[in-house]
Amino acid sequence: MSKRDYYEILGVGREADQSSIKKAYREKAVQFHPDKNPGDKAAEEKFKEAAEAYEVLSDPDKRARYDRYGHAGEMSGGFSGGGAGMTMEDIFAQFGDIFGDSGFGTFFGGSGQRQRGRGRKGANLRIKVSLTLEEISTGVTKKIKVKKAVTCDECGGSGAKDRNSVRTCTTCNGAGYVRQVRSTFLGQMQTTITCPTCDGSGQTITSNCSKCRGEGHVQGEETLEIEIPAGVEEGMQLSLRNKGNAGHKGGPPGDLLITIEEKTHESLQRDGQNVVYELYLNIADAALGTSADVPTLEGKVKIKIPAGTQAGKILRLREKGLPSIQSYVRGDQLIHVNIWTPKKVTAEERDILEKIRTLPNFQPQPGASEKTFFEKMKDYFRMK
Ligand SMILES: [Zn+2]
Ligand SMILES: [Zn+2]
Repeated sequence: MSKRDYYEILGVGREADQSSIKKAYREKAVQFHPDKNPGDKAAEEKFKEAAEAYEVLSDPDKRARYDRYGHAGEMSGGFSGGGAGMTMEDIFAQFGDIFGDSGFGTFFGGSGQRQRGRGRKGANLRIKVSLTLEEISTGVTKKIKVKKAVTCDECGGSGAKDRNSVRTCTTCNGAGYVRQVRSTFLGQMQTTITCPTCDGSGQTITSNCSKCRGEGHVQGEETLEIEIPAGVEEGMQLSLRNKGNAGHKGGPPGDLLITIEEKTHESLQRDGQNVVYELYLNIADAALGTSADVPTLEGKVKIKIPAGTQAGKILRLREKGLPSIQSYVRGDQLIHVNIWTPKKVTAEERDILEKIRTLPNFQPQPGASEKTFFEKMKDYFRMK
């Protein structure tokens, strides 16, 4: 099933500023709030959908990526940059504050929706992945060993020495969050914030785990399997949810942010979705016609060179280029014909060339048969 457009979900225009996006999300969240629509699965889906849209559009980086690449920029195969995997708890934990000044503040805390025992989220992990044009053409799964913070196996991530050294946090009574009442010109407003004493874990520790010194994580290594969709580009960033550094004191892990790098190809050059190949012919082959082996992203292809082919001609292999990350439409391979001129000649070759030099059909006739460079460029853009 294809995903709906985030702007459409929130009912805002593509140029909407942050405050309109926030306002639109708050309206949707209040409308489809589970406490207002108990047991209504459709409303719950709408509630999650709106949270996902808000998660992306409220973050300038994610929004820019979404504007540029659509859902493909955040989702493909194993990727999930959006809230597709968000649970109700995630939504409340992340966006609970949005209800603070809508009168819905009391829903949180009272409803018992929030999960206790969650510490601070781990740091995001950034890596670069270098890909060949062939890998970009088909998409690829990469196994990459990364150094990152992993959950401490000694304490299971709690940061505590043992069971007896864990106490319920007295600031929040184990809830992991506290309510804050603020006075505003509209009257008293209530919001919930993460408990500052226990960082949201709901627990305080009297004696730290000796291996991780109470952090809940240690430096380690992990081999990640990363599925890269076909059609990515140099500099593009993909995010893999919860695959970053382990959280603090049992908190959720950070995200893995992957920056794409393109390896230089030995014979093909990328131009958007097209690939360009520079073909060199000798004067005899160009004049008499021949066939040539041309490398493509899918192996060698034999092409026919018609008699009388001019330098500068562009031959086209349809759909031998790269796919778009957003669709299955492939670009083309363009073959740019060059005529090879010898840089040095033997005595025998010189004799032959001296004869050719004066032959009538070897005299240049600009404009007689071939289009000019500018006409060819016009044709090329008309075809696109
Ligand atoms: Zn606490
Ligand atoms: Zn530990």
